[in-house]
Order: sequence, then structure tokens, then C-alpha cells
Amino acid sequence: MEVRIAIAGFVDETMTFLNEPTTADHFEPAVKRGAAVLDGSGKIPSSFNQDYINGYLNVLRADGVEPVPVINVHKVPGPFTSWITHECFERYASETVALMRSVGKVDGVLLALHGALAVSRVPKPEAELCRRVRAVVGDAPIMVTLDLHANEDHELTDAADAVFILKTYPHVDSEEIGEIAARCMVETVRGGFRPTQALRRPGIVSASIFQGTHDQPMKGIYERCRMWERQPGVYCVSVAPGFAYADVPDIGMCVIAVTNHDQALADKVADDVSAAVWELRDSFFRPLPKPKEAVARAMELVARGERPVVIADGADRIGDSTQVLHELVAQGARNWAVPGIYDPVASDQLERSAKVGDRVTLRIGGWYGVHSGQPVEIAGTVAYVGRPRYTLVGPMGKGRTVQDGFVARVDLGDNRHVVVADRTRGANDSSALYAVGVDVASLDIIPLKSRAHHRAFWDTVAKVNMPIDAPGYREIPDLSQLEYKNIPPDIYPIGRKWREGR
Ligand SMILES: [Zn+2]
Repeated sequence: MEVRIAIAGFVDETMTFLNEPTTADHFEPAVKRGAAVLDGSGKIPSSFNQDYINGYLNVLRADGVEPVPVINVHKVPGPFTSWITHECFERYASETVALMRSVGKVDGVLLALHGALAVSRVPKPEAELCRRVRAVVGDAPIMVTLDLHANEDHELTDAADAVFILKTYPHVDSEEIGEIAARCMVETVRGGFRPTQALRRPGIVSASIFQGTHDQPMKGIYERCRMWERQPGVYCVSVAPGFAYADVPDIGMCVIAVTNHDQALADKVADDVSAAVWELRDSFFRPLPKPKEAVARAMELVARGERPVVIADGADRIGDSTQVLHELVAQGARNWAVPGIYDPVASDQLERSAKVGDRVTLRIGGWYGVHSGQPVEIAGTVAYVGRPRYTLVGPMGKGRTVQDGFVARVDLGDNRHVVVADRTRGANDSSALYAVGVDVASLDIIPLKSRAHHRAFWDTVAKVNMPIDAPGYREIPDLSQLEYKNIPPDIYPIGRKWREGR
């Protein structure tokens, strides 16, 4: 009898410190149903959970197991929105349940989640989704893959049979974690594996910019996970450092150990890793230079021949903040290119009237809110207008095609370039700059709006990676500046208990 495994997804990394709520309108154009769920060639380039699904398929197909596609709920990239409305969650959770019923009996369910949904009036959305799926599939195993920017607690491990989390940031193991989950599923369904798992919460929250796995402390933490994974009976040990920009009750780190039919071992491993993480709690923060100091330091490094320097403004999730651009202009830096300032008004104006060779003066950026900084006036020559299509060349998403919206490159002279875009535009590798005609090799300073994902590529090119502390919207390094209402009082270091020194 053929084994059938259902596949569904519901992913978002909801930042709750933005202005507008997230509704079904922000998801619906990107939602895939039925056979399309298995098609990895969709038009959403950064769909990480598609990579989990690709990993599931590698294993299921190799094992002669039938994948049963259900639904994959994924947001359209940008505009950036805040809390997911209750109505929106209900709509897709109900649809997932209805479609899960309609596919008939399945032997197991693989859920490609992210772990950072933040939903009004649904405190633990991923656990809630799992419980609803459980009501459909009964005792059939449910296994979950998560991004490491996940906020979860025991409710999820109570509802799912096994949970697996990425171990790389920049995320380059999404397909691999999908395979690990699917292999566990197949062996469980065939009777060769009995998943037992333990979850621990060390009680720490940290900013994304300090969670990169090229550096300590996360590098060492994952080495410890892998050390345990080499022990007999231990299948997978995960640590999610969490997503700090959601004001949710299960914010922060969690450790999950999955073992084969050995609860005591799962408990022991999770206790060990959780205790090790707690010991490292003060290494998840260090002061970073502000934009003014960072640009000055970058110029000094360049003058000493240490080039190019990447300035990584991790706080700006919208793509409109101007603090670094302002400093580059004010301090007279040369040989730099800003890959994207998201400005709907300026890009609309350029799209309607600008052609290559025109002289323009524009005020750009700084429109979203107070933390974006003031608009910056730039004057230069339009050097590119269009909707470039290009292929990613870095380890993240290599070979994938990106279709930009409207972009214009303005050449300010002295090999200084600003790309104005009609949406958030990043450059996790050099392709986004080459696509608009920038000679990347000639650049001294590469100002990016990124926390860690850029490092998979730019660390191979840049002499220095310089993370900075800019205000932005609002993945700021210093979490004590955010106004949380729902987080646990004892979460380190920003819970009430630690702030008030009690
Ligand atoms: Zn992530």
C-alpha cells in the first residue's frame, strides 16, 4: 500500500512594531494550492519554505512515498506590515483544515512553517495550526520545519511529533532541514523510528544581528548541537535564537532535541544545550557604531587599503532609511553604491519622466516614519532605468531569478551611486548591483540593509563586515528601546525582572 504524506505551509516573520496590520490581501497573491505547492519554480524568490518543501520531496520521491500537496500560505514580499489580523489567520487555518480533509487519508503531515507568525488574539499560532491539523489526521505523525527566527514553546512540541529548525544564518540549510524532517517522517511511518522530543526555553531574547552563525555565540551553540547529534539515539538537536521584533508571549530562544524512542535522552540533551546557551546570555549583545562613526571608520579602513567595507544597517526592514546615505554624502566618501532606497514617490516620478542621461535632483527616502531619518537630497545623472531581471550568484538562492520592480540608478559622480526603487531592494550578493550597471569591483564601501544574510556572499568579497546601530524600522540591536507589552517578565535581558534588577 502506498504511503501518502501531506505537505502544507504557513509562513511569516511578523514584525509587530510596524504600522499597518497584515491582512489576507498581503498573502493571497502568493498562496499556492494543490499541485502548485510542489512547484519550486514559483515567482516568490525568497520563499524559504519552498526550500523545505524541496527537501521533503527529495526524500519522499527517492523513497517511493507519495507527496500530497495541500496549501502553502506565504506573504507577498513587501509592503511591510505588522500584526496578522485574526480574520486572516482564521481564513487560512480553516482552509488548511478543509483542504487537509479533502485529500483523504494520509499517513503523516509535513508542515513547512517559519515559527514567527504574530496574530492578533492567537498567542501561539503555529501550535494552534498544528492542533487543528491534528484534529483532521488523528494519530498520523505531524512533523514541522522552522526557520531559526522562530518564537515557540512547548505548545508546539505538544501538538507536533517532531520539530526541526535551521542551523544556519544566513540560511543555507533550508533544503537540508527539509530532508532531515522527511527522513524522520518516512522512517516513523514505516515503523523504524519513534520520535521523542524535548523543548527547553533558556529564557533569552536577542537581536537578529547578533545571531549570525559565522560568529560566536551561535557558531559554538550549533557545534554543541552537532556534537550531540553524533551520539547514538539522538536524531536532531535544534536551537532557535528567536525573532525579537514580535511582541509575543513565546518570544526568544528555544532548544528542541529529537531522539528515537528515548524521552530521557531528549530531556538530557535539551537540558544540556539550554544550560550552555544560558551561560552565553551576555554574548548576544555588543555595542555597535552609529552611522556617523561607521562611515568615518569605513573611510579610514579604505584609506589604509582595507577595501571594500560592507556597512550593514540591519535595522532598516522597510528599505527607506537614510542615515548611512546621509553620512556617505556629508563625509565625502567615494566609490560606493547604495543598492536600494525604497521610495514610492521618487520612483514613480522617475518612472514617468526620467531617461538615461537626464540630470535630476531628488529628495529620497525617510518617508515611512521618524526612525527612517530625514529624506536626503541627491543630484546626479540618471544612469539606469528599468525593471531588471537577474540571477542570484551567492550561496543564498544561487541560480534563482529575481524580477525587480521599477528601479533607477542615479550616478552622483566620483563613482557614487544610489538606486531608487519602488519596493524594498537588497543585495545579498553582487547581482543586484551588476544588474543596474554598477562595477562592483570598483567599490570601496558597500552600504547594505541587512543583518546576516548578506554575509554568505559578501564575506567572500569584502575585507570588513561592519554591522551598525542605526534607528531604522526596527530591527535595532538594542532591544531595550522597543516597547513590548506581551513578553514574559523573566526573559533576559529585557523582561521586567531584569530591567528592574529584581
Ligand atoms: Zn530567518
